[in-house]
Amino acid sequence: MERAQGQLEAEMQNLEEEKNRVIEEAFIRAESEMKAVHENLAGVRMNLLSLQPALRTLTCDYNCLKRQVQDFPFMLDKAITEAKQEICQVISEVSSANQELLRKYKREMNLRKKCHNELVRLKGNIRVFCRVRPVSQEEQDSADAKTMLSFDSEDDAVLYLSNKGKIMTFELDKVFSPQATQEEVFQEVQSLVTSCIDGFNVCIFAYGQTGSGKTYTMEGVVDDPGINQRALRLLFSEVTEKAPDWDYIITVSMVEIYNETLRNLLGENPTDKLDIKMNPDGSGQLYVPGLTEFTVQSPEDINKVFELGHMNRATACTNLNEHSSRSHALLIITVSGFNSATGNRTQGKLNLVDLAGSERIAKSGAEGSRLREAQCINKSLSALGDVINALRCKHSHIPFRNSRLTYLLQDSLSGDSKTLMMVQVSPLPGNMSESVCSLKFAQRVRSVELSSSSRRHENSSTSSSPTHDSVKHTCS
Ligand code: ADP
Ligand code: MG
Repeated sequence: MERAQGQLEAEMQNLEEEKNRVIEEAFIRAESEMKAVHENLAGVRMNLLSLQPALRTLTCDYNCLKRQVQDFPFMLDKAITEAKQEICQVISEVSSANQELLRKYKREMNLRKKCHNELVRLKGNIRVFCRVRPVSQEEQDSADAKTMLSFDSEDDAVLYLSNKGKIMTFELDKVFSPQATQEEVFQEVQSLVTSCIDGFNVCIFAYGQTGSGKTYTMEGVVDDPGINQRALRLLFSEVTEKAPDWDYIITVSMVEIYNETLRNLLGENPTDKLDIKMNPDGSGQLYVPGLTEFTVQSPEDINKVFELGHMNRATACTNLNEHSSRSHALLIITVSGFNSATGNRTQGKLNLVDLAGSERIAKSGAEGSRLREAQCINKSLSALGDVINALRCKHSHIPFRNSRLTYLLQDSLSGDSKTLMMVQVSPLPGNMSESVCSLKFAQRVRSVELSSSSRRHENSSTSSSPTHDSVKHTCS
C-alpha cells in the first residue's frame, strides 16, 4: 500500500511537473503571439492614421464633384446662351456686310448702265453704217465690173463715189469695204446686241436696193451666218455667263410686213393678218394679239425657228425672192432677266429688220399690184426716215403711226433705245444711181442729229421744224 502510495505520489509529482511545464510553454507561446498581435495592431493603427487624410480629401473631392454635377445643367445653359448670342452677332454682322455688298452691287450695276448709256449717247443712239458688197464672180466677167466706189485707208467712216467725173464724199459712222467679213461686221454691232440683256430696246435695220446684200448681212449663208444667228448665239453665251445670279428667258418672234399688213411667220396660219393694239393694262405699250413667241434655249432651237419662219414665208407667196425684196422681215428677240438675289428684273428687245428693197420703180412701168407694192414700200421707208429724223431732232411728235413698221417698232425706237441703220450698197456702176440714193438717205439720217443738236445749242427756239423733209425716201 505504502509502496503503491509512494508510486502514485511520484506519478502525481511527475504529472504536476508536466502540467506546469505545458502551462509555462503555453504561456510563453501566448505571450509571443500576443506580442505579434500588438505589433500588427500598431501597424494597422499607423495605416489608419495615414488613410484618414486621404479619406478626407476624397470626401472633399466627392463633394466638390457633386456640386459641379449639380451646377452642370446651369453652366451648360449659360454656355449655350452665350454661344447663341455670339453666333447671332456674327450672323447679323455677316448679313449687314452682305446688305452693304448688295447695295454696292446695285449701285455698280446702275453706274454700269449709266456709263453704257453715256457711251452709247456719245456714239449716238442712232448710228448709220454702210456696207459695200463685193462684186460677184459673174459680175466680174461682165463689162460692168469697174467699181466706182473707193475707201479711205486712214478713215473707216468715209466713202468716196465717183459719179460722172465728180467725186462725192459720204461720211457715216462706219464703212465696211467688200472685204469685211461677217465676223468683222458683227464685232461692230455686238455691244448693241448685248445691251438688250441690260434692258435696252435695240433696232438694227438693213437698208438698200434689192441685191445690195441686206439678207446676206442679216441672215447670211449656211456656213457664214449673219447678224441674226450671231446675235442669238452671243445672247445665249452672255446669259449663260451671268447664271446663276441671273435667270434669263429668250423668246423669238418672226413677222413680215407686206403691203402694210403684218404676218405671223411662226404661226400655224402665216397668211392670217395680225393687228397692233394698245395694251389694255394702261401701260401705253403696244402688243400684237396672236403673235407667236417661241422660247429658245439653245442654238439648235434657233435653227428650228429660222427654218419654220422661212418655210412659212415661202409657202405664203409664189416667188420668194421677189416677195422678200418687197416685204420687210423682222426677227424680234425678247430677253427677260430676273435676279433672285436683288429681285431686279430687266426686259430688252432686239429687232433685226431686213427691209424691203429701196429701189425706185420706173414711174411709167408699174401698175396694178406692182404699183401698190411700190407705194407701200416707199411709204414705209419714208415713214422710217421721218421717225428717225423726228427722234434725232427730239420732236415732241414722232409720226410712228404713219406705217405699220414704225408703229410696230414704236417701243423699240423711242426712249432709251438704240438704232443702227446698216445701209447696203452695190458696187456696180449699173446700180450707181440707187447707191447714191441710199448713201444720201444714210447721210441725211445721220446728219440730222448733228445739225439739230448744234441748232439746239445755238438757239432752242429754231429747232421746232428742222430738216424734216430731208429724210423723205425720195431722191432728187
Ligand atoms: P438683198 O437682200 O439686199 O436683196 P442679198 O443679200 O440677197 O441682197 O445679196 C445679193 C447677192 O450678193 C447674194 O447672192 C449674196 O450672197 C451676195 N452677197 C451680198 N453681200 C455679200 C458679201 N458681203 N459677201 C459675199 N456675197 C455677198
Ligand atoms: Mg433680201
